[in-house]
Amino acid sequence: MPRLPRSQASSSGSRSHTLFKEAQRWIPGGVNSPVRGWSRLGGKPPVIQRGEGPCIIDVDGKHYIDYVLSWGPLLHGHAHPKVVRAVQDAAQHGLSFGAPTGAETTIAKLLCTALPSMEQVRMVNSGTEATMSALRLARAATGRDLIIKCEGCYHGHADHLLVAAGSGAATFGHPDSAGVPAAFAEKTLVVPYNDAAAMEAVLTRHHDQVAAIIIEPVAGNMGFVQPLDGYLQALRKLATTHGCLLIFDEVMTGFRTAWGGHQVRCRVRPDLTCLGKVIGGGLPAAAYGGKRSVMRLLAPQGPCYQAGTLSGNPLSVAAGLANLRLAAGKDFYARQERRLQRLVDGLCLRAQRHNVPFQAGVMGTMWGFFFAEAQVRDFTSAAAAHVERWKAFMEVMVARGIYLAPSPFEAAFWSSVHKKEHIDTTLMAADEAFAAAAQV
Ligand SMILES: *Cc1c(COP(=O)(O)O)cnc(C)c1O
Repeated sequence: MPRLPRSQASSSGSRSHTLFKEAQRWIPGGVNSPVRGWSRLGGKPPVIQRGEGPCIIDVDGKHYIDYVLSWGPLLHGHAHPKVVRAVQDAAQHGLSFGAPTGAETTIAKLLCTALPSMEQVRMVNSGTEATMSALRLARAATGRDLIIKCEGCYHGHADHLLVAAGSGAATFGHPDSAGVPAAFAEKTLVVPYNDAAAMEAVLTRHHDQVAAIIIEPVAGNMGFVQPLDGYLQALRKLATTHGCLLIFDEVMTGFRTAWGGHQVRCRVRPDLTCLGKVIGGGLPAAAYGGKRSVMRLLAPQGPCYQAGTLSGNPLSVAAGLANLRLAAGKDFYARQERRLQRLVDGLCLRAQRHNVPFQAGVMGTMWGFFFAEAQVRDFTSAAAAHVERWKAFMEVMVARGIYLAPSPFEAAFWSSVHKKEHIDTTLMAADEAFAAAAQV
């Protein structure tokens, strides 16, 4: 096999390169969300022209098999005809009314039926809004101020959630971003993921002050990290004992690891759940919901205010409904997981052949990997993974047309339109990529 040049996706002189340089002049960093800047891979992302099923095509005409899928929403790949048609049909009848529509009730009913813990749900426009609003509601419901999150979990960019510092014993959080007032960050306590004892210690220390525990039931924002057996169940018990709400942030896992969300799979009922990504099918939509006794505190019924000009707009709801209905078949998630498992098994086998320490996992249509010797279970072990090896691996994968997240601390995704041929192509590229990683 010819050796590949270990070059950037968009070498100088390419249209991607020219367009991205222009973008950098007018948009901070050239991107509307930081992860798109490929800063860990040389800062020269391909500029995308269009998507087609499991592939994206850049402005230079290069095809990639896409395992990012817009960071999760595209459960059935790009421009799925049924999703596109649903949006076109909705658009013909008006883009937004700011008034009740029947479709909003249709999606609310679908979500509440799919998630046993959800009796009522409110639509918002982004995952950030969903978590921010759920926490306000938890504070309203408990009359308490503190929240607990896990180190390495991402819950959107609301001020009091941009806190991930502190390790081991919980310390009062330090902001992770400039511009977050210390007074906000102080309300957020941080504990390691997968450590129920640490959670209990913090709850005990701040007895009667904690409004909510917020957690990704499967972590996807420090790389792909699965909950240990019994961990989520333990959190449920602790929240009940200490009178705080348990919030599952299923913005990523919702309708990804299982129909409904991961709570269906692990059989834990949170008090509130946040959804996003898949439920919008590629358009801006997210939601939060839970027990009626808590949701009734929201305006206009109750004293907790939350609103949105475009919330539940017809296009997002149509795209979301179409995306969800395509996954409603019996066995959809089990079938996808079996197919995805073949890809991940193939990767592990090739890593082994090249003697590259590699950890990979699958949960429904979500997956991920680390260049690490042992199982990753929290932020500390994730951060210890071999980034240089990941880089060498990624440079070959990208050159070979395999599009994975441009950061070693992100999950990967799978869609129902990825087929055996895409797995085969990916594994061929991976063989070469592991060979490169083995040199590091
Ligand atoms: C993506 C994500 C968010 C934020 O959603 P946005 O729509 O990007 O604001 C929140 N929580 C989790 C777990 C996510 O993966």
